[in-house]
Amino acid sequence: LLQARAVHKSFGQVEVLKGIDLTMRQGQVVSLIGASGSGKTTFLRCVNLLEEHDGGEILLDGDPIGYRMINGRRRRLSETMVSAQRARIGMVFQQFNLFPHLTAADNVMLGLTKVLGKPKAEARDITAHWLGRVGLAERAGHYPYQLSGGQQQRVAIARAVAMQPRLLLFDEVTSALDPELVAEVLGVIQALAESGMTMLLVSHEMLFVRDVSHHVVFLDQGRVAQEGRPSEVFDNPQNDRLRSFLGRFH
Ligand code: ATP
Repeated sequence: LLQARAVHKSFGQVEVLKGIDLTMRQGQVVSLIGASGSGKTTFLRCVNLLEEHDGGEILLDGDPIGYRMINGRRRRLSETMVSAQRARIGMVFQQFNLFPHLTAADNVMLGLTKVLGKPKAEARDITAHWLGRVGLAERAGHYPYQLSGGQQQRVAIARAVAMQPRLLLFDEVTSALDPELVAEVLGVIQALAESGMTMLLVSHEMLFVRDVSHHVVFLDQGRVAQEGRPSEVFDNPQNDRLRSFLGRFH
């Protein structure tokens, strides 16, 4: 479903991604772990076209992300085509990013009507379904300021998944939450994983990562330093930097 090969990204002189390879199959949950600054967020942003990678390739269902080949040359995609690609990938952010002036239901509905062009009645049904799935059926008419952080984040997840993306990206979605609200959000992600959603997570919740992931990738200074099944990565770290990284969570 997703294939990244030798992905490079620099900001000015600073090379943040130094050749990332990553393959994801449909229904797989893959987690990126690593120290602050190792490039996890930058990689997610390249996958979602919020950043343009400057070397290597990222393919979604075989289509290169952000460009296409014409007569053997890379050509940037038009804005319309970028939007179409982006609609196939959902992303949930650390800071929820809900529209403050819209209710929970309207936050979920907006993309369904404006981006996917669904009729209002259908969009309303889909919205009710997903708000129910994240346990917020009763809060549909609430504005973000009337919701806890955990509830806001669950609305953001409902909004992303309602768009039926091929791939869902989660960028440290529990980092901004009070500790007692983390579990409810992780529970929703776990349920999505069990329903077969393909997900790429960046998280510092190591117990959760271990539990939910099929595959774990440890990034160190812009490179994949070790990857494998959660048990391999967590119980048998081969890499010194991974060992010291994991040591911080004990
Ligand atoms: P964290 O866990 O702290 O979010 P991370 O592994 O996600 O870290 P990134 O956010 O990808 O790391 O950042 C990697 C490096 O790239 C950092 O050194 C950061 O300062 C740099 N960086 C990220 N975005 C930009 C930008 N827009 N311009 C310049 N430098 C950037």
